[in-house]
Amino acid sequence: MVERSPDTPGVRERDDTMDDRLTQSLQDLDRHHHLHPFTDARVFNDAGVRVITGAEGVYLTTSRGHRVLDGMAGLWCVNIGYGRPELARAAHDQLLSLPYYNTFFQTSTVPTTRLAGRLAEIAPEGFNHVFFANSGSEANDTAAKMVRWYWHTKGQPSRKTIISRRHAYHGVTMAAASMCGLEEMHPQFDLPLPGFIHADCPYWYRYGRGMDPEDFGIAAARSVERLITENGPENIGAFIGEPVMGAGGVIVPPESYWPEIMRICRRYDILVIADEVICGFGRTGEWFGSNTFGIEPDIMTIAKGLSSGYQPISGVLVHDRIAGVMVEEGGEFQHGFTWSGHPVAAAVALENIDILQREAIIETCRNVTAPHMQQRLQDLVDRPLVGEVRGVGMMAAVELRGKKGTAAMVREEAWKRGLLVRATGESLILSPPLIITADEVDMLADTLLATLDAVESQPAA
Ligand SMILES: *Cc1c(COP(=O)(O)O)cnc(C)c1O
Repeated sequence: MVERSPDTPGVRERDDTMDDRLTQSLQDLDRHHHLHPFTDARVFNDAGVRVITGAEGVYLTTSRGHRVLDGMAGLWCVNIGYGRPELARAAHDQLLSLPYYNTFFQTSTVPTTRLAGRLAEIAPEGFNHVFFANSGSEANDTAAKMVRWYWHTKGQPSRKTIISRRHAYHGVTMAAASMCGLEEMHPQFDLPLPGFIHADCPYWYRYGRGMDPEDFGIAAARSVERLITENGPENIGAFIGEPVMGAGGVIVPPESYWPEIMRICRRYDILVIADEVICGFGRTGEWFGSNTFGIEPDIMTIAKGLSSGYQPISGVLVHDRIAGVMVEEGGEFQHGFTWSGHPVAAAVALENIDILQREAIIETCRNVTAPHMQQRLQDLVDRPLVGEVRGVGMMAAVELRGKKGTAAMVREEAWKRGLLVRATGESLILSPPLIITADEVDMLADTLLATLDAVESQPAA
């Protein structure tokens, strides 16, 4: 390997040319053959795909040798950071001993069963059963089916409707997408399906300004009660919510919100599903968002941070209240995926949980780095472009005000400066790996400040 140095422009040029050739050929292949999720091909094909070739800790490297701090932990998932050899070893060893077996016909595998036991240990009191799937969407679809199964078993089959919320994100399969409250996700597919309705959400900055936040939290929760009484409680099966809404824009509910939701759902005997796909495994500073917000759900869906994204795996955690009915009286659950409890994914998830525990990653995050990040981001509040900074644990949003499209501009400018942030509507979203250090948090915050400066001083387009 020849060291690159500014003093040897020849070497530098040759390397760059190599990087460019590789990148261009990959971009061509991608343009011609790869359909991307949530992407308008006509818009993005011109720019060319960014090829990520490696990662370490909180940093990504592209095929052009560009190094960026991953302010999103992939898609909210790489909680322990990139490049942990223990997870590679766990996968390697499991692939050699037993690469696959199913969990259907009275069989299981060692890591799958161990993972079920481990999840019962770390989950809130009363969550002793888990059903495995492979994605957050599958977990939420499974939860929707469990709700119907539960009420059928209880002799109340009319309780089918599931209440979710505007701005919610629960995934893309037909039921999960129906539960989403992001309007652009519905018209292409004639969704939502019947039996999925949407309440208001506790998004104070957009819908509650001028109101006391805690009063607003109660009002937002009461919109769920309104839907229950309008539709008849005998027709409502469950309420589903993310403890903190993620893809909708890191919408942190006022403290009054979740207790009021719990009161309402208990009053009308409606099941509560906490979608912990983002909040689970430390994102809010506790193992689950339900711990942070005092939610006592009946069902919790988990995915992303369960394996820190090193393998696709998800689960539906079921409280004894529900599991008892299903196990004792439900009969055979006519549902399951070929990869439910895949041994390699389970082995990786186990090792991921070990690392989170052994290295006290969630505690450090809660006590040190997350408060530091929230405090550094508060520095942005006074900027002319910034409307609100909100967050909890290691997730945050910086909502901009002013011209539409500014958030996307900031995102592109930040990328050039070595920081990956996401733009959702007019909010910049941050959800870095939980192992980010205080120095790296400073780098993130400084880069964001410099980026906002640069964008603020740009002449209006
Ligand atoms: C990402 C996400 C999902 C969907 O997970 P997939 O693995 O992409 O299917 C569901 N719920 C929430 C809250 C999510 O953020």
